[in-house]
Amino acid sequence: MDARIRPDWDIRDAILDMGGGDAYKCYQCGKCMAVCPWSHVETVLFPVYRTPQSVKFGAIMTSEDAEQIEREVEEVYRCVGCESCSTWCPHEVSMPTIMRGIRRILVEYGSYPSQLADAVGRIASSGNPFGEPRENRGQWAEALEVQAFTPDMDVLYSPCCVPSYDPRAKKVAAATVNVLRSAGVTFGILGEAESCCGEAIRRVGAEEVFQQVAGGNASIYTEAGVRTAVCTSPHCLLTFRKEYSEFDAGFQALHQTQLFARLIADQRLRPAKALGKKVVYHDPCTLGRASGVYDEPRAVLRAIPDLELLEIPHYAREYSLCCGGGSGGMWIERAKGERLSDIRVQQAAATGADILAVACPYCLQMFEDSVKTMDLALEVRDVAELLAESLERPDV
Ligand code: SF4
Ligand code: SF4
Repeated sequence: MDARIRPDWDIRDAILDMGGGDAYKCYQCGKCMAVCPWSHVETVLFPVYRTPQSVKFGAIMTSEDAEQIEREVEEVYRCVGCESCSTWCPHEVSMPTIMRGIRRILVEYGSYPSQLADAVGRIASSGNPFGEPRENRGQWAEALEVQAFTPDMDVLYSPCCVPSYDPRAKKVAAATVNVLRSAGVTFGILGEAESCCGEAIRRVGAEEVFQQVAGGNASIYTEAGVRTAVCTSPHCLLTFRKEYSEFDAGFQALHQTQLFARLIADQRLRPAKALGKKVVYHDPCTLGRASGVYDEPRAVLRAIPDLELLEIPHYAREYSLCCGGGSGGMWIERAKGERLSDIRVQQAAATGADILAVACPYCLQMFEDSVKTMDLALEVRDVAELLAESLERPDV
């Protein structure tokens, strides 16, 4: 061990207190490093299997050398929470949870990447990572005349911050509105009353802000009488399902592709317009590995006439390769050659597909950036957009 790195049992205990206890389950087989998406990037060495050992031996963030600390912070924030390692770990170690434990300490000391600190600050002050005015959260829905949610409606539509504010992703929210209307589902939104779900910032380690926004949302949903929330983002879905019970929230959450597949099976949606394209579907980590939703997005795509559904060989379903946007990754600028999304769009383009279909606003943004910078002949579309276009009576 480097002489400047001395075991610090207080730091170890703090990380364990913050949820890093899985470190003790690790037996150093190294499988996590082999399945980590960073193993596809030749210029990056990310020996993630060492992290549990470093935690156990009180040897993380204990160096007196500033450069060493900087390297460790960079490594801890390289993890994009894709759940590939935890899916394949023989001892069910949740590396993202260990990382979250370490990150909580770093956030407490203010020692984390400034881009992430800025995003956390914006969410704390305006309820979204863009720093856009809270009162504009429902603006995307005004021209579509989407109603405010009332308890007699079938579902709350919870579009996520990205489709609420980002011009490209707003089209996904509009397509979702079209699909729900075509099926006769009654729905409304909460607009400025709700904030970011908090999923990403909890993974960044900003626990206090997570408690603030998630606790606020949970109370608002309960007071509004929400029974079912339909989410565009798998990140909202995951945190609503797995973490909002901490705030006694009693609503169920569905990803929109789950609802769409059900509506198609019940013949309440009848995709009729032929697409005439080859489409390859990317499984978002948070929808697939983290939530087990693999079949429904494919069922929706298969229901669209003249759509040839392709798969990315070796890297589909639970083997999917992350877009790099999770756990704060979408707010960290990575150097060319170190972007996971670039690798993934190349895999998609190699299938010969015309369209890369996604079911997550983070994937949409990451892949569209990559397709543009790499000048690939590949369109990136959300499943909702493809479905809306194929419906008999599109309203928007
Ligand atoms: S795969 Fe699991 S047990 Fe093996 S080194 Fe990684 S975390 Fe440890
Ligand atoms: S969650 Fe994904 S990015 Fe993070 S260490 Fe595991 S495999 Fe690597």
